[in-house]
Amino acid sequence: MTEINEFTFMSTSPDETNQLAARLATLLEAGDVLLLEGDLGAGKTTFTKSLAKGLGIERNVNSPTFTIIKEYKSGRLPLYHMDVYRLGDEFEDLGFDEYFEGDGVTVVEWAHLIEEQLPNEYIQINIYHENETTRKILVKAMGSRYVEICKELFKR
Ligand code: ADP
Ligand code: MG
Repeated sequence: MTEINEFTFMSTSPDETNQLAARLATLLEAGDVLLLEGDLGAGKTTFTKSLAKGLGIERNVNSPTFTIIKEYKSGRLPLYHMDVYRLGDEFEDLGFDEYFEGDGVTVVEWAHLIEEQLPNEYIQINIYHENETTRKILVKAMGSRYVEICKELFKR
């Protein structure tokens, strides 16, 4: 059975979200998959930018809405940043598997739109807009590897 664990983090500023993402980056390895969910302006791209910095990527990371997949290779690990919003819920296989099983970290914004193509294990991050500066960040770890990562991320 798949081990599952959930954590809630209250972020009261972009900076707190940045710190969480940067810390998570240090715990990731090749083949890790992060799914990001949340309405427009929730903070998915903000989170990804800080994750990228945490991986040592210096290039600015922007939302890849029009390209679907952007690759950044200058960090400790490659980062594959996907924003599948534009795909809608029409099935389109862009070879996602090769990214998920590849040599880098894959981040998918709006991941539920490619539900059928997602791996079985991942970290899912749901960001909820509470007010202008506060976000409730729900982190769900699916699978024992990710449960361990999240325990480490939230231990204090
Ligand atoms: P998305 O990619 O989900 O559409 P963005 O990351 O592009 O969202 O935008 C999120 C916006 O919310 C940014 O302008 C960011 O500065 C702002 N913001 C305010 N408070 C927070 C917070 N606590 N965590 C993350 N972002 C925040
Ligand atoms: Mg975005």
